[in-house]
Amino acid sequence: MTRPIGFIGVGTMGGPMTRNLLQRHFPVTVFDLNREAVEEVREYGAEAAASCADCASRADVVITMLPSSPHVEEAVLGAEGALAGMKPGSVLIDMSTIDPLVTRRVNEAVTARGFRMLDAPVSGGSIGARDATLTIMVGGPEDLFEACKPIFEALGRKVIHCGDVGMGEVVKVVNNLIAGVSMAVVAEAFNIGVQAGADPRKMYEVISQSSGQCWSLDRCLPYAGVVPEAPVNNDFAPGFMVDLMRKDLGLAMSAAQGVRAPALLASVAHELFGAASNLGFGRRDMSAVQKAVEALTGD
Ligand code: NAD
Repeated sequence: MTRPIGFIGVGTMGGPMTRNLLQRHFPVTVFDLNREAVEEVREYGAEAAASCADCASRADVVITMLPSSPHVEEAVLGAEGALAGMKPGSVLIDMSTIDPLVTRRVNEAVTARGFRMLDAPVSGGSIGARDATLTIMVGGPEDLFEACKPIFEALGRKVIHCGDVGMGEVVKVVNNLIAGVSMAVVAEAFNIGVQAGADPRKMYEVISQSSGQCWSLDRCLPYAGVVPEAPVNNDFAPGFMVDLMRKDLGLAMSAAQGVRAPALLASVAHELFGAASNLGFGRRDMSAVQKAVEALTGD
C-alpha cells in the first residue's frame, strides 16, 4: 500500500530518502525551512507544503528527518507543527537522531492527541540514503512497525525492531558513539604514522586488512587519494557533519549519565569534534576531525 507521506526535513538525508519514496510510487509532500532543498525534491515529483502542519494535513504518514532534538520538538509540537495538522489515524515516524528522552516526550504528546508514533533513526550516511541501503532501527508498537515496513523497505536494506518507543534512538546513539570514537582514533593514529614518516597509502593497505580495520577507516580516511569515495577528496563535503557527530556524542554522554555508566571515550571524542567545529569545520564531513588532530600536532 503506497500511503501518502509528508516528509519534513529534506536535507542531506531527507532529500535522497524522499526521492526513493517517490521512485517506489509513494506520493510525497515535503516541508523544509530551506527553499533550495524543497526545490530539489520538487524536481523529482514531490509536492511542496507551506508549513509542517500543512505537510502533515496532506499525509497518512508523517516522517521527520531533522538535525536534533529542538528541531523535532519545534516541527512536531510547535504552533505550526505537524501535530496541529495530523488527520485521524495518521502516524508519525521520527527518523532523526535525537535524545531518546525527547522521543518519549514527543510520543506522549502525540499519543495524548490519539495518534501513534515510531522512532526510526538510520545508519549508512548520505550514500546509504541515496542507494536505499540504510540500516533502520525502530522503536514503538510492533503492529505499527509491521504496518510501516513497506515504507522502511523503500529506504533501507536492514530494518530492525529494537523495542518500545525511544529504543531505536538508544541503539543509534550507541552506534554513533562507536563511529565517532573510531573516526577520531583513525585520525589520531594516521597522524602519528604520517608524522613518523609512514606513507598513508601503505598504512591503509595494511590496516584495512588487519585488526585496526573499521567503517571509519574504509569510508572516511582523511588522507587524500587513498580511499576514492572518502569526503577528503571532495574538500570534506558531507557525508555526516562534524557538528552532527558532536551532537551524537553529547547524546551518548547524557544517555550514559542517565544510567550511571562511564562515557570516558565519548567525552574525549566530543572535545575533539568540538575543536574541529571551532576551527571552522562544523559543517564539513566528520572526517575533518583530522584538522583538530593536526592543529594539536607540534613541528
Ligand atoms: P541536514 O542539516 O542536511 O538536513 C536537515 C534539514 O532539516 C535541513 O534541510 C533543514 O533546513 C531542515 N530543518 C531544520 N529545522 C526544520 C524545521 N523546524 N522545519 C522544517 N525543516 C527544518 O541534516 P542531515 O545530515 O540530513 O541529518 C538529519 C538527521 O539524520 C540528523 O539527526 C542526523 O544526525 C541524522 N543522520 C545523518 C546522517 C548523515 O550522514 N548525514 C546519517 C545518519 C543519521
